[in-house]
Amino acid sequence: MKKNKIIYLQIDGLSYSILKKALEDGYMPHLKKYLEIKNVNILKKRTVLPSSTVIFQAKLFYGLSENILGYRWYIKKKDKLISASFGDLMFELEGQIQMKKHGKFTRGVVFDSIFSGGSSNVSSLSMSANAKSEISIKKSLKKILEYSFVNKPALALNVIKHIFIETKEDFFGWLTINPKYRVKIKPILILARSFGTGILPHYSISKIFDEIRKETHPIYWNWEGYDMVAHRFGNKNKLTFNELKLMDGYITKLLIMANRKGYVVKLFSDHGQTYSKIFQRLNKKRLEDILSEHLNLNKKLIAEFPDIYYSEDKNPKARIIILDGGPTSLIYFRDFKHRLSENEINKIYPGLIQRLISVNGIGMVAVKKNNKKISYFGREKNPLHKYLLSSYEIKKLEKWAKMKNQADIILFGDFDGKEVVCFEDQISTHAGLGGIQMERFEVVFYPY
Ligand SMILES: [Zn+2]
Repeated sequence: MKKNKIIYLQIDGLSYSILKKALEDGYMPHLKKYLEIKNVNILKKRTVLPSSTVIFQAKLFYGLSENILGYRWYIKKKDKLISASFGDLMFELEGQIQMKKHGKFTRGVVFDSIFSGGSSNVSSLSMSANAKSEISIKKSLKKILEYSFVNKPALALNVIKHIFIETKEDFFGWLTINPKYRVKIKPILILARSFGTGILPHYSISKIFDEIRKETHPIYWNWEGYDMVAHRFGNKNKLTFNELKLMDGYITKLLIMANRKGYVVKLFSDHGQTYSKIFQRLNKKRLEDILSEHLNLNKKLIAEFPDIYYSEDKNPKARIIILDGGPTSLIYFRDFKHRLSENEINKIYPGLIQRLISVNGIGMVAVKKNNKKISYFGREKNPLHKYLLSSYEIKKLEKWAKMKNQADIILFGDFDGKEVVCFEDQISTHAGLGGIQMERFEVVFYPY
């Protein structure tokens, strides 16, 4: 029997309930109609723990996510910062995974992804090549323009049009945001939006059409632009819904063409996003300030990396490294080459855990109790409770908290049942616990 050809279409960061709302409110009329014609249901699923694309992709491509803590982490023994923003680090990490397992995509093509899945035909425009790195964004843009002008002049025009339209829309959209939530615009991020949502998807889709014609199998594409916009404007904002509207026609066209060519198409998201309160605004302080005060340590000796721009030499003398990942923050004490236990932390930094629990916006603190157990602390007796995890998820969380290279102290943003506290400048967020960041959707279309 001939095996079905498969296309994996991932919409990064789209919660199940937000997709439902987009369909109901008329933002995705083409997809809505196609779903009706095919008579298929959208499944509501839970995501990986914590809700991170890097972990999700490793699981999807290799069936494992060991040693991957999220978007960024630190290896004490090697004194090395790891970030998914850097393609070379992810390449190295993937190489280690490949020593154990073959990727799912050795025969296929992979677009706009952190990992290659073993494919040798990877669109070079990986996650690390977009918004997160200024050099790559310029390089990639140049590559897209070159490709477009030579092969697809219509696409080239589209690209240029988008730079103008989205940049303008972006600026006015930003002005309409409640100042309480307004995130400072970095010039590069203006380009990032037009790149990630207006340009890159058009380029990738155009290439995917070519691959479908060649009947390549399997094909994977991650439309990460949605996630980027949702982070910046929030997943309740009209601008963010408009991104779905913008892509609705293209995605549906892709589904129709894939169907005609006999492909099974899996349309899904990796995780959702939860609306957030920004930690810094709640406290008028960063985490580094709080640590510096409590430990009576010069702020220069603490390096907090709240955003995507950091390099290893930014603060080589820092004795404490804080790596923020949305509603999760990892604190590493660089003076110790091993992971400190609860007892050690209490001895070396008396009162620190209690101090952190008392800070507005910190919902839970997790530290290593011993080699087998993790201790969770919060203002409540059982701080895990408010995140509404299943017992299976609590086990998964525990496993993650015990991973190699895990931080000395793990902080989780507080969750009030609706909004989660975020350590980065993001209006809606993920990579932690609480709310619809933990849901994802999945729908499978069979050909006929
Ligand atoms: Zn994200």
